[in-house]
Amino acid sequence: MGIQSVVVYSEADREAKYVKLADEAVCIGPAPSALSYLNMPAIISTAEVTDAEAIHPGYGFLSENADFAERVEKSGFTFIGPTSESIRTMGDKVAAKQAMIKSGVPCVPGSEGALPEDTKEIIKIARTVGYPVIIKAAGGGGGRGMRVVHTEAALVHAVQTTRAEAGAAFGNPAVYMEKFLENPRHIEIQVLADTHRNAVWLGERDCSMQRRHQKIIEEAPAPGIPRRVIERIGDRCAAACKKIGYRGAGTFEFLYENGEFYFIEMNTRVQVEHPVTELVTGIDIVQMQIRVAAGEKLPFSQRNIQMRGHALECRINAEHPYTYVPSPGRITMWHPPGGPGVRVDSHAYTNYLVPSNYDSMIGKIIVHGDTREQALARMRIALSETVVEGIHTNIPLHRELMADSSFMAGGTSIHYLDGWMARRKQ
Ligand code: ADP
Repeated sequence: MGIQSVVVYSEADREAKYVKLADEAVCIGPAPSALSYLNMPAIISTAEVTDAEAIHPGYGFLSENADFAERVEKSGFTFIGPTSESIRTMGDKVAAKQAMIKSGVPCVPGSEGALPEDTKEIIKIARTVGYPVIIKAAGGGGGRGMRVVHTEAALVHAVQTTRAEAGAAFGNPAVYMEKFLENPRHIEIQVLADTHRNAVWLGERDCSMQRRHQKIIEEAPAPGIPRRVIERIGDRCAAACKKIGYRGAGTFEFLYENGEFYFIEMNTRVQVEHPVTELVTGIDIVQMQIRVAAGEKLPFSQRNIQMRGHALECRINAEHPYTYVPSPGRITMWHPPGGPGVRVDSHAYTNYLVPSNYDSMIGKIIVHGDTREQALARMRIALSETVVEGIHTNIPLHRELMADSSFMAGGTSIHYLDGWMARRKQ
C-alpha cells in the first residue's frame, strides 16, 4: 500500500524479524507485558514521536481492549478496528449474546444474562437448560474461565469457583450458563464492514482441532456442511454487523451440532487463522482493515465474493509435540517450506532466540489447493520440508494429524484432538 510502518517491541522481542523489516522500530519497555505491550502511554507516545496516523493493534495484548481503542482515538490517531463501544459490548459475553439475540443470530440455549446470586434460582435455571451445562465468565477469553457441570450436586460449587476465578483473572465476577454441547464443531464466520453501511461475510472457517480450547489447525471451507446452511448463517452475521454498526474485520464464532449453529462469541479483531480465508477468497483482510479505517468503502459486495479451493493452516508452536511443554531457546536452523500454494507467516529465522515470555506460537504454515485432498497433500509436503532445529516444535504432531483417517475424512468435533492425544499416550 506504500504506507510506512513503525513497529513497537519489548526488549525480549529485539531479535524478531518484523523489528528488522519495519521502516522504524521502537522499543517500548522490558519483557513483562505489563511494562511494554500493555503500556498504553508508551505505545501512544511512540505514535506521537514517529508521526504515525493510525495504530493497528494486531491480534494479541490490547487488540480487544476498549479502553485502548478509546485512548488511541482521543489522542488523535485512527484505531484500526471497530469502535470502542463495539469492542466493549462484544468483550462482555453476556452483553454480546443479548445483542446477537436481538439481531437474529442463534445462540446456545442458557441463562438469560448473568447468573443471579440466589442458589435456588441457579439450580432452577440449570434444570430448565438441562445437564450437562457449562459455566462461563462474562469477561473470559483465550479458553479460560469455563467449567462444565454434569450434575446438580456439583453446580453451586462450580458457579462459586468460576465466579471467584473470573473476578481475579478478568476483573469481572459475572458468570453465565449455557447448555454444554457434547459433540460440536467450531465454525466461525469472517466479516468485514465499512463506515458506509456495507457489511459482507468472507465464508467460514472450521477450527475444531483444538487442544484444551486452543485452536491448532484451521481450514476453509468447513468440510461437509451444505452451502445453503452456511449461507443462511453468513447472511445473518453480515446483517448483524449493520444492525450493531460494526466496522472493520471481525469474527462470529459458533458451535455447530446436528445441523444447527449456536453463537458463542465475537472477536473484534483480525484472528490468527485469517490467512485461510485470504487464500480461498483472494482478499487481503489486513489491507481491508486499513482501508476501512481510512474511511474507504469496501471495494466489493457480497456477490463478488467467492470461495475458491481449500486452505489449511497449521500453527507451529515452540513446544514439545506431545507433552506441550514450552520449548523456548535459540533456533539453530530454520528452513521454511515453499512452492505453489504454500505460505509461511513467521517472525523466526536461523539463529533467532524464541523468548520464554510470551505465547509459544512461532509461525503458521498455510496451504491452498483446488480440493481438500490437494491442500492436505501440500500440507504434508510442506511439513516434511520444514526444518526447525535447536528447539522442540509441534511439527511432528501436525505430521501425524495430516495422516489421521478421521481428520482426513473431515468434520471431527472440538473434542477429537484431546481424545486422540489421550489414546496416543496409552
Ligand atoms: P474464549 O473466549 O475463551 O475462546 P469461547 O466462548 O469462544 O471462549 O469458547 C471457547 C471454546 O470452549 C469453544 O471453542 C468450545 O471448544 C468450548 N465451549 C464454549 N462454550 C461451549 C458450550 N456451550 N458447549 C461446549 N463447548 C463449549
